[in-house]
Amino acid sequence: MPKRILLSFLLFSFSATAQTKRSFAITHVTVIDCSGTAARPNSTVIISGGRIVSVGPSETVKIPTAAHAVDGNGKFLIPGLWDMHGHLTDATEDAFPLLIMNGVTGVRDMGGDLAQIDRWRSEIESGARVGPHIIRAGPFVDGPKEGVTNRLTVRTPEEARRAVHDLKAKGVDFIKVHNALPPAAFFALMDEAHKEHISVAVHLPKNVSSAEASDAGVVSLEHVETMYESAMWRKGATAKTVEQAQDEILGPIGQQLFQRFVKNGTWYVPTLVAYERGFVLWSNDPESLKPRLNVHEKNIEVVRMMHKAGVQIMAGSDFSDWGIVPGIDLHNELALLVEAGFTPMEALQAATLNPAKFLGKTDTYGTIQAGRVADLILLDMNPLEDISHTRKIHAVVLGGRFFPIASLRKQALQDAAKGN
Ligand SMILES: [Zn+2]
Repeated sequence: MPKRILLSFLLFSFSATAQTKRSFAITHVTVIDCSGTAARPNSTVIISGGRIVSVGPSETVKIPTAAHAVDGNGKFLIPGLWDMHGHLTDATEDAFPLLIMNGVTGVRDMGGDLAQIDRWRSEIESGARVGPHIIRAGPFVDGPKEGVTNRLTVRTPEEARRAVHDLKAKGVDFIKVHNALPPAAFFALMDEAHKEHISVAVHLPKNVSSAEASDAGVVSLEHVETMYESAMWRKGATAKTVEQAQDEILGPIGQQLFQRFVKNGTWYVPTLVAYERGFVLWSNDPESLKPRLNVHEKNIEVVRMMHKAGVQIMAGSDFSDWGIVPGIDLHNELALLVEAGFTPMEALQAATLNPAKFLGKTDTYGTIQAGRVADLILLDMNPLEDISHTRKIHAVVLGGRFFPIASLRKQALQDAAKGN
């Protein structure tokens, strides 16, 4: 190996204001591109101008003379991960270093302070701040609720229709509905959103079933446990308890429901880790722990059945509700998806290819192919052997900028010391 390659890591210094998107190559690396093809050992990836310009066998890919070379021998390259359910406003800007050092290069923000998120987003886009790509809903559309912020409170169908126009005028990427929105207002919102060509992601409103929400054309349903509320709310419901609702979802009614999601193209973001973290790991009361643990185990079974039925699923952590840690808990979600029967490749796709498909941006994100934005994670160990190896991060490439993990850690510590 030429010395030039071995020294190359040292040449890439971290700077939050770095604008340089210089050309470089990652050589002799095993590429796991997440497009559905098998891992390709001994590949070389050329990155220039923030994009992937070529990927191929190391023997044939020509490294431009101006490009630095990074030796990827013995390492594994995967696309940057997307957390498809997060709340940046709650997490504050402290989330950014954590997200990037954990390889989370994209976030779907599921409700927060639009002006603040847009400030962060433009700082990130200009290179003044290191952070993920952000797709955001802005304020939640919700019914009357005490003690919450960043809500557009909607009570009537008329207000719901107006909310769609207001949010569209504000330029949100999609609408997020929360659980106190009255059913009549919810269906009016769906109708108006359909006319206005804006997608709606849903934390199921009380007394709306997931079948009704799916038929109404929601783009995604959030949180696996809302399936049980739905089973208790639906017209003709017989389930009275969470246990009965779970049995229903794990039986033929669940199967029919999953087929409906498939037919309607409804995505599901189960956020298994949010339940685990919020209701299981944080419980120090043995009495309440046991039933919660049972719910968690059934949650995993429900996701297993959904996945088997062909429902399209994405990884989301729900940071920072319930003490969920940005970045870190996305890796925990991937591990839970594997527990739910996903292959490691399918779990990776739930945070790479699937988000790109969902966003209609497969030509931009989600895989390691020429033309895509260069968001990549260089791993020391093979994630297809064990999904926990997604945590063995050697370096992160964000929009074509190369960040060795040590520099990201150092920067995070400096930020923490400054009280940022
Ligand atoms: Zn949430």
